[in-house]
Amino acid sequence: MRIAESMVRTMPKVKRNYKALAVLLAFPLIMGVSMKEPAKGTKIKIFNSSIGKVEEVEKIYKTNDEWKKILTPEQYRVTRLKETERPFSGQCPLPPKGGAGIYQCVCCGTDLFRYESKFESGTGWPSFFEPVSELNIRLVTDKSFGMQRLEVLCARCDAHLGHIFDDGPAPTGKRYCINTIALKLAAAMPKNITKQIDTATFGAGCFWGVEAVFRKSKGVLTTTVGFMGGNLKNPSYKDVCTDKTGHAEVVQIEYDPKVISYEELLGIFWDIHDPTTVNRQGPDIGSQYRSVIFYHNAEQEKIARAAKEKLEKSRRFKGLIATEIVPAKEFYKAEEYHQRYYEKQGIEPVCHLPGKLKKK
Ligand SMILES: [Zn+2]
Repeated sequence: MRIAESMVRTMPKVKRNYKALAVLLAFPLIMGVSMKEPAKGTKIKIFNSSIGKVEEVEKIYKTNDEWKKILTPEQYRVTRLKETERPFSGQCPLPPKGGAGIYQCVCCGTDLFRYESKFESGTGWPSFFEPVSELNIRLVTDKSFGMQRLEVLCARCDAHLGHIFDDGPAPTGKRYCINTIALKLAAAMPKNITKQIDTATFGAGCFWGVEAVFRKSKGVLTTTVGFMGGNLKNPSYKDVCTDKTGHAEVVQIEYDPKVISYEELLGIFWDIHDPTTVNRQGPDIGSQYRSVIFYHNAEQEKIARAAKEKLEKSRRFKGLIATEIVPAKEFYKAEEYHQRYYEKQGIEPVCHLPGKLKKK
C-alpha cells in the first residue's frame, strides 16, 4: 500500500486519466448559461444598483401593441424592431456636473450602464466599457446586414440596445455601442455602487482541475493557483509535493459579488470534489490535497460554516465533511506552468468534474 501510494504521488499528474469526460456536458449548468429562449414567467437574476444587490425578477414580456403604448415611435423602432438610430442623432443625457448616474433600459427600467463607464468613442453613439453587471444584459449573435456581430439586449425585457465590439478602452477592452434612445438616465446613485472585487481561496485537491472549473464560472474575474496554509516561505511545487511544508494546493479567485455570490462559489467548490476524504482527493494523497476553505473576512467565515453545516445535514455525502475552514494566510503563487494548466495543454480537465461526486 505504501509503495502504491508513493508511486501515485510521484506520478506526473497528467497521466492520471480518470474518466467521465462526458460529464463535461454539465458545465453549462454551473455557468448559469441557458441557450434556450426563456418561457413566460421565467425568473432571472439582475443587479439592482439602488440597493447594491442581485435580485430575482420576472422577465418582462409585452406584445408589440403594448410596447407601442408606452414607447415613443422612435423608441419602439430601435428597441423592439432593432433599428439603429443615426449616429450623432440623439443627445445622451448626462448627470449633473460631478454627479453619478445610471443609464437604464428605456423599456423596463433595468439598470444597464454606469455613467462612470461611459467614454467618448467618436462614433456618434454612447459607448461604455462595461455594463452595471453582466447579469443585466444578454448577448446574442446578430447576422443581419451580412455581418457577424454581437447584439446587446436588456436581460429583463430583451430590448435591443446596440452591439458590442472588442475595440474599447481598458480595463475591459470592450465597447458597448448603444443607441441613445434605448437609454434613460436615472437619478444620481450612492457612491458605493462602484465595482467591487472580492477574493476567495479554496483547496480541493489538485489545483489544475479546480482552477479550470472556476475559470468557466460567470462572475469569476481572475484565478491563480498557488499554495497557502503552510510554514515554508515561497515554496516551490516540489517543496509542497514533499507533503512537509503544510501548504495546501489552492486556487485564489477574484470575483464580482454582483454576478456570483460567495455562496455560489461554495456551491461549485462542494460540487467538484469529495469533501469527506482527509488529505486526499482520488489518487492524490497528502495534506497538500486537503479540502480547505481559506476565508478572507468574518462574513465569508460565517457563510462557509453555515454552508458546511447545511451540506452535512443534507446527507449528500456519506460521512462527515472534512473540509477545514480557516483564516487566509499568505498566498504563494505556483510556478507559471501550473497556471491555467489544462488551457495551456489544450485539454479538458479530467478531474474535478462538476457533479461527478453528487451521488456519493
Ligand atoms: Zn429592459
